[in-house]
Amino acid sequence: MNDLTITQASCADDYDPNSMPVAKAREFIHRFLQPVEGVLRVPVRNALGRVLAADILSPVDVPSHRNSAMDGWAMRFADLATAGETTLAEIGTSFAGKPFGGQVAAGQCVRIMTGGVVPEGADTVVMQERAKVNGQSITFAAGQKAGQNVREAGEDLKAGSVALRKGRIVRPAELGLIASLGVGEVAIHRPLRVAFFSTGDELKSVGTALGAGEIYDSNRYTLHGMLERLGCEALDLGVVRDDPALLEKAFREAAACADVVITSGGVSVGEADFVKTMLGKLGEVVFWKIAMKPGRPLAYGKIGPAHFFGLPGNPVSVMVTFYQFVRDALLVLMGAHPVDPIPTFTATCSARLKKAPGRTEFQRGVLTRAPNGSLSVRPTGEQGSGILKSMSDANCFIILGDATGNIEPGTPVEVQLLEGIV
Ligand code: AMP
Ligand code: MG
Repeated sequence: MNDLTITQASCADDYDPNSMPVAKAREFIHRFLQPVEGVLRVPVRNALGRVLAADILSPVDVPSHRNSAMDGWAMRFADLATAGETTLAEIGTSFAGKPFGGQVAAGQCVRIMTGGVVPEGADTVVMQERAKVNGQSITFAAGQKAGQNVREAGEDLKAGSVALRKGRIVRPAELGLIASLGVGEVAIHRPLRVAFFSTGDELKSVGTALGAGEIYDSNRYTLHGMLERLGCEALDLGVVRDDPALLEKAFREAAACADVVITSGGVSVGEADFVKTMLGKLGEVVFWKIAMKPGRPLAYGKIGPAHFFGLPGNPVSVMVTFYQFVRDALLVLMGAHPVDPIPTFTATCSARLKKAPGRTEFQRGVLTRAPNGSLSVRPTGEQGSGILKSMSDANCFIILGDATGNIEPGTPVEVQLLEGIV
């Protein structure tokens, strides 16, 4: 942990817990994050979604031999006439995995396929679309360039050079890249253990009957999904009643078994007070009213060595605060480096949006491409922070910054996609 304690950091001059800008809250949290320790060696496939704990050096040149980028013929460039066609004698073949053993001399060429080793003597490949075949006599069009269509050994990676840096999250492309080096096992950061529970007397778990005024707990399901997607080990500790003794026990247990504790509910005005007192006993936690909608109340701190995120109770607020604050923090703790913010881009809003200046709003939107090719976004409908269907119907957030007021149709707005392709 940083030597700057949470209490000290929260005493800074421009720190206002009752109106905390989104960016400032993120910055505050990031001061206390260090990757967790612990490295595992796993077979390559098991590294999917995990974070590399060491650089991966290429043990070989990639490609390992000079090879052709095209189907065609390999020859000496010096043999090709600069103006007009050239006819050369085909003396053999070099297919991928079946190299031509001999030398290419003046006046000769070798039939070569993509990936085939470029034979000794040859330095250039002419693609087959630029050649005419007459038995073993091959005639090439004018205008070829020296060295074209030849991939040099080590062109992608030299033996001993860094193929992937530690901190890289392993996606399908990295699995393939690692395999292409002949590396079968990699060092990864151990999975981050994240314990979570819901708080609220009104909450029932799926599978039990609802009494008067009770609702099903959905936050543990969205949290489970978001954590699993991120590659964390998600530990579901169930529902805890709004009872100080039970909550204290739950916090103690969670902090003892996990790197991170996430709760939902219990941080809004009125509910926060006894939680505050209790967490003051167990650790160091700050409570904020973030200048955002949804997701106004938020708590962050440390309970022993565990990081703590107290998310609001409303189902949409849980998801929005997770993506805007928790996701990046967990990635840092998982050892990912660099942690890039989720990209945003601009689309034209097709509807009128109500928005009060002074806070950042994360409305749920549907992004589509209009027939003229431009990007268009519309809100999913009702934007209440309890309406989880607004997240389910959405494919993006529409982010309306602090200074923004109402949006008229046709105005460009910032959007952030909810799904990536890899
Ligand atoms: P709270 O932040 O505890 O005041 O809760 C705000 C709203 O979110 C209330 O309407 C709660 O009933 C609701 N809520 C809290 N926790 C959950 C949960 N786990 N699942 C569904 N709704 C919840
Ligand atoms: Mg509650």
